[in-house]
Amino acid sequence: MSIKLEEYFGKMRIVSLARRKETLEDLNRSGLDVVYKNQNGITLYPEGIHYNLKDKDEFTFLNYEDYDVFELYTDGTLIRCFSVASTENFFFITPQCNSACIMCPSAADVRKLHEVKNANWLIDIARHIPVTASHLTITGGEPFLAGLELFDFLAFLRAKFLNTEFLILTNGRIFSIWKYASALVMTAPAFTTIAIPIHGSTEKVHDFITQTPGSFIQTLTGIKNLLKLGAAVEVRIVVSRVNGEDLVNIAKLIIRDLAGISYVSVMAMEMTGSAAVNKSVLWEPYSKLFVKAEPAIKLLLENGIDVKLYNFPLCTVSSGYRTLCEKSISPGKIKYSPDCSLCAAKDACGGVFNGTYYLEREDLIPLK
Ligand code: SF4
Repeated sequence: MSIKLEEYFGKMRIVSLARRKETLEDLNRSGLDVVYKNQNGITLYPEGIHYNLKDKDEFTFLNYEDYDVFELYTDGTLIRCFSVASTENFFFITPQCNSACIMCPSAADVRKLHEVKNANWLIDIARHIPVTASHLTITGGEPFLAGLELFDFLAFLRAKFLNTEFLILTNGRIFSIWKYASALVMTAPAFTTIAIPIHGSTEKVHDFITQTPGSFIQTLTGIKNLLKLGAAVEVRIVVSRVNGEDLVNIAKLIIRDLAGISYVSVMAMEMTGSAAVNKSVLWEPYSKLFVKAEPAIKLLLENGIDVKLYNFPLCTVSSGYRTLCEKSISPGKIKYSPDCSLCAAKDACGGVFNGTYYLEREDLIPLK
């Protein structure tokens, strides 16, 4: 959803939204650029220039709140990049990735794009985000392909956000180099968790899934380095037909070699992008994959390691494990089947990915 300021011909910039006079005054005092919504359109500050809006854009503005943050482009397009009302705000650093995972929900072509968000731009967005933000995610692609300047951005976040929880999604390979692991731990904000996937218990399985020779050793070394440096690390396991039989071995590897991780997230696949292309190799219904995952989850729990289940509808998980399920799918991607209206657990269930529903719908059986 975007808005167009038809007569804007200024520079690319970040602006915060004020709907109330008090918010405008507060943002002006903070020295931030502001888009002030008034009855007849909007006014941009500090310059104080007024713009009329089309009816459809007036309507779109009803979805936005005081202190939301927007990117304003040279052609007048205004796109929200931070929502005060959401707990799912993220910095998307780059679509590019140095792995080529067969279960990636992004398409291979997208992962080859070389766009990288500039650190000054990211810092300007962060400058506009209220310090009270509860949770922010840093993601890609592989965010650390942005190079050393990403650490400047992290250092800015660390100085500004003293109480915000951060989640950094990375394949972790770069942290096999001690100086990068050390730079991350020195610059990341206080409450940061680094989420890194392990796809197999051996090079053979992991590197087949990433399609990247050497990635298993790099990722494992990266996690160990981060743990040695005292970082909070979440290990992610995306379950598929390829690693289904290896899940217990992955659990054993975590228990044996990765003492000190914060928790393990066991994740159901989103069947879009490369995952959809590789469906014949990867796909099994979530309920069947959960049967394979259950002994691994049990083993982790018995060894004192917390487990979270992401993206599994409740009806695909054994009853004793449903309390581990998180409502993890973003609201815009959630789908329920028509039968879900008969389900006693619908309020507690996070549903299924829109893009996976066509494969998973037969698996969704209302709970009593
Ligand atoms: S039937 Fe629908 S609402 Fe109920 S657990 Fe399954 S997916 Fe969730």
